[in-house]
This record gives sequence, C-alpha cells and structure tokens, in this order.
Amino acid sequence: MNISIIIPLLNEQESLPELTSWITKVMDAHNFSYEVIFIDDGSTDGSWQTIQQLSDENQNIKGIRFLRNYGKSQALHAGFAKAQGDVIITMDADLQDSPDEIPELFAMVTEENYDLVSGWKKKRYDSVVAKNLPSKLFNWAARKTSGVELNDFNCGLKAYKKTVIKNIEVSGEMHRYIPVLAKNAGFSKIGEKVVLHQARKYGESKFGMSRFINGFLDLITIWFLSKYGKRPMHLFGAFGVLMFIIGFLSTFLIIGVKLFRLSFGYETILVTSNPLFYIALTAMIIGTQLFLAGFLGEIILRTKNNEERYKIATEINL
Ligand code: UDP
Ligand code: MG
Repeated sequence: MNISIIIPLLNEQESLPELTSWITKVMDAHNFSYEVIFIDDGSTDGSWQTIQQLSDENQNIKGIRFLRNYGKSQALHAGFAKAQGDVIITMDADLQDSPDEIPELFAMVTEENYDLVSGWKKKRYDSVVAKNLPSKLFNWAARKTSGVELNDFNCGLKAYKKTVIKNIEVSGEMHRYIPVLAKNAGFSKIGEKVVLHQARKYGESKFGMSRFINGFLDLITIWFLSKYGKRPMHLFGAFGVLMFIIGFLSTFLIIGVKLFRLSFGYETILVTSNPLFYIALTAMIIGTQLFLAGFLGEIILRTKNNEERYKIATEINL
C-alpha cells in the first residue's frame, strides 16, 4: 500500500464527508493505493456514525473509536500502530489542511528520500491566539532547544516514512514535537513544505491558550528526556555533588574562622548567628535531595512500565 492517511478527530462531524470525498478524489486521480484511518478521540457528536457510513461506502476508509477523549497524541499513536502504508500522512479533520498537498508530500518522501516532511502554514487562517507572536516564540524555542530547523512544529499535516512512525512513541501531548522525537530516534533527513492553510469551516478549535503553556513545559521535558532521559544521575548527581561540596566547604569555613578567632582571643559570634551557616545547611540538604532524585530516576528507568495507554471501543476494516 502506498499511503496511510491518519486523521485524529474530536467532534468534527460536519467536516468528515467533505474531507473524505476530497481525499478519495486526490487518491484516485493519482492512482494511489491507500487507507484512511479516522481516529475518533471520544467525540460526542455524530462523528462515529458518519465514519461508519463512510466506511460502508469505501473499504479504504477505516476507523478507530476511543472510549473517551484521550487527546490528539494518543489518537496519532493508535493510528500509527495500525498504519500499513509505505508513506504515512497525518492531517487534521477540520478541513484546515488540504488533501491536494498529499501527492507532493508523498513524492518528497519517496523520491527525495526524506524521513519526515512537515507542513508549514506560512500564511495562517487561525484565531489570533494561535497566530503571530506566541506561535513564533513557541517555534523559536523549539528550534533552539531541539536543533530541528522547522518553522511550524505544530502543523497537523505531515508525511513520514513508515519506519519513522513505527520507531517513535508519541505520548502525553508530544504530537507537537514529533519531528524532535524522530530526530532523537535517529532520523535526520527532516524537511519542510509550505502548505495551504484554510480557515476552519465548521466547529471550533479544540486547543486554547493552554497549548502554549503546555507546549513550553513539554519542550523542557523533551529537552531533558533527549539529553538525560537515559542517564538522569548525570544531571541530578552533578548538581547534587556541587551543592553538597558548597555546603561542606562553607561549614569548614565557618568552623575554621570560629576556631581561629577563639584561639587568638578575638571576640566571636555563635555559629548559628552566622548567615553562612544557613546557606551551608540548605546547600547540603538540597545537594542530598538532588542526588537522591538522580538515584530514583535511575531506578525508575530500570522498571518497565507496560501500562495500557488508551482503550479502544470499536474498529472498522482493521
Ligand atoms: N483533536 C483530537 N483530540 C483532541 C483535540 C483535537 O483528535 O483532544 C483533533 C481535532 O479534531 C482536529 C485536530 O486534532 O482534527 C486539530 O485540532 P484543532 O483543529 O482544534 O487545532 P488547531 O487547528 O486549532 O491547532
Ligand atoms: Mg484546526
């Protein structure tokens, strides 16, 4: 199979028929063998009924329905697990991403040998919240932290080689950083294509301003995980030892000065009246804590966690 199109959705009933016929039109025009996997991320409108109808008419349309809303990242994870195509395309369900971009994205992966091609909504038609400054800042921070040179990390329209999606784990809300996950997994040929973007036709955006706060926190996590995820002791241990040494030396200094003054008959103050005493104490305590955090990290790392991440209610054609 040439292409798997993965579409996560939450309450996008109105868009689905239009999106599906647009995709099939493009696929047929280029003679692609394909599958479309809709992942219904706990919709409460008629999205699932619509997917059922669409899949009745066309065997290439497949569906996964979550028991409840787990988030876009989990939906993508479920889709990636099932995808069979050589090239995997992800796109949003809200008609903001254009299926007309798919053939070119496909060519970039198959002919130009890109591991991953990310869409770039150079001209955006989103709410003011998602546009402009916060978005630029967000992408700048992501570029600086990860070293992946993309202008639009969060674009829903992306194309992947099959090996890429089978070798990365999209967890939490990490769908914003799939290119970084790919890079950390060893896939380095990451490209970008300017894509057409349209205003949302039906419904409303599912992410508010919180996307930036969560996004920045996730960025710190991903930086930490990629650098120290496999060796937390190197970060916490280093800081811990440093803090402890500072505390230890300060203690020596305090006692040394005290003894010196005593032995030469100078006037002297109580150790507890010396501000340095408290700094020394705190430094040693924090140092020990950091060291312990490093140890705990290493122990957790060695404990496999096979917990189920989401529960699927129904599947069609899979
Ligand atoms: N989405 C989802 N689960 C969620 C939130 C969103 O599957 O919990 C889907 C949504 O239906 C859409 C895509 O993710 O297909 C992008 O969401 P949206 O258009 O609201 O984001 P924006 O375009 O505002 O960034
Ligand atoms: Mg959208």
